[in-house]
Amino acid sequence: MLSVERMTTAGPSPRGGLAGRLMPPQTLWDNVLATLDDVARRLQLDPDVLAVLREPERELVVNIPVTMSDGRVEVFRGFRVQHSSARGPCKGGIRYHPDVDLDEVRALAALMTWKCAVVGIPYGGAKGGVSCDPAHLTEHEIRSLTRRFVGMIMPVIGPNRDIPAPDVNTNPQVMAWMADEAAAMPGRSSIGIVTGKPVSLGGSLGRREATGLGVAIATRELLHRRGQPLEDTTVAIQGYGNVGMAAATFLHQMGCPIVAVSDISGALYAAGGLDIPTINRHVQAHPRFLLEGYDQPGLERLSNDDLLTCQTDVLIPAALERQIRADNALAIRARVVVEAANGPTTPEADAILNERGVVVVPDILANAGGVVVSYFEWVQNLHGLFWNEAEVNRNLEHIMTSGFDRVWRFSGENAVTLRTGANMLAVKRVADAVRDRGMVR
Ligand code: NAD
Repeated sequence: MLSVERMTTAGPSPRGGLAGRLMPPQTLWDNVLATLDDVARRLQLDPDVLAVLREPERELVVNIPVTMSDGRVEVFRGFRVQHSSARGPCKGGIRYHPDVDLDEVRALAALMTWKCAVVGIPYGGAKGGVSCDPAHLTEHEIRSLTRRFVGMIMPVIGPNRDIPAPDVNTNPQVMAWMADEAAAMPGRSSIGIVTGKPVSLGGSLGRREATGLGVAIATRELLHRRGQPLEDTTVAIQGYGNVGMAAATFLHQMGCPIVAVSDISGALYAAGGLDIPTINRHVQAHPRFLLEGYDQPGLERLSNDDLLTCQTDVLIPAALERQIRADNALAIRARVVVEAANGPTTPEADAILNERGVVVVPDILANAGGVVVSYFEWVQNLHGLFWNEAEVNRNLEHIMTSGFDRVWRFSGENAVTLRTGANMLAVKRVADAVRDRGMVR
């Protein structure tokens, strides 16, 4: 069992000055900097290297004019932030959401740097986004927005420079439009310019399920080390989209009873275990891919809040950021939390869980399966290869299990949580690359 320790508060921030020292972290970027400062202190990192890592390498802001279906022109703000290319070309998704802003994209870019480093794939970190509400855009408007956006960020992306992928509200179709737009530009026709493409256009088999499979592997590895048999370990999953459904499917196949699942339509609970294959068929046949309307004997309906605190051994948040907070962390009954979503636990809630002895597998490790198979897609594209699904999953299994093992051993040896251990390993790898490149003396 790992020792219990608390997250420290933010150190001095070049952006925040004295206020940054006195105020609690406010934004995801503040949290990222606070974590980096804490890790730098633990690693006794060279201050020059820390100064490099505290600032993204490049930030591009674009204003994207789109002619809407009613003939009006609307101007959307888009971003591409490259946090670090010290370990290789930058890698990270593109998010379409009303809350997207420069600070959020900056934070998510830095998390991509640590995620690629912790599992040892040769990428740096980037992220992109457009501030828009896709629920209120037609398909034609999303296509026009995507094509114009990729044209405007083209000067900074490329298969050997920065490779976008899908994220919240973007998907293989959006990636196909991006790859096609890029191909229309002279000298830019490489299919490896984005990943997460449809298989018909150079996408990889296994990419759609990769994040959920990685989550299931990380859960299995932890349970093995705790001596907990999978068939005796109950699991609750918040969010039944790409990641949640795949995680449920693989954990069910591994033998775990999945006792609760939820999506925006509500939560389902069955103490004896849910019938996951039947639920999957129900969701795939639902017009909006929801759990709504599903029934089975012994089923109870819960609120989304109740799912987080239901009776379960393992809780897997696979929906949104900031779901486990100071106001509900004390009520969580699971002894293990596996972070499938990005940033589902606030720093305050993380401290509460640590104090209560709840083991948290951090997002940068637990959900790395997606970027790992994006890496496989890029490798296949650059070399003109096409791997079968078994080969993709075998290689994913190897990278996830060795990544988990390294974080587990390092955290145990240094008596820190898995989150701190993962962050320390990741930052050390990036710092070594910064130094080896001669970016600092
Ligand atoms: P998705 O849009 O396919 O699914 C999200 C699910 O969450 C949906 O079922 C939605 O109904 C549900 N949901 C939304 N709000 C909810 C609420 N309040 N309570 C319960 N359910 C709710 O998204 P996804 O691709 O599965 O991504 C989920 C998370 O995983 C995000 O944080 C994303 O950043 C992260 N992630 C995804 C990938 C990937 O490869 N897709 C990789 C790494 C991390």
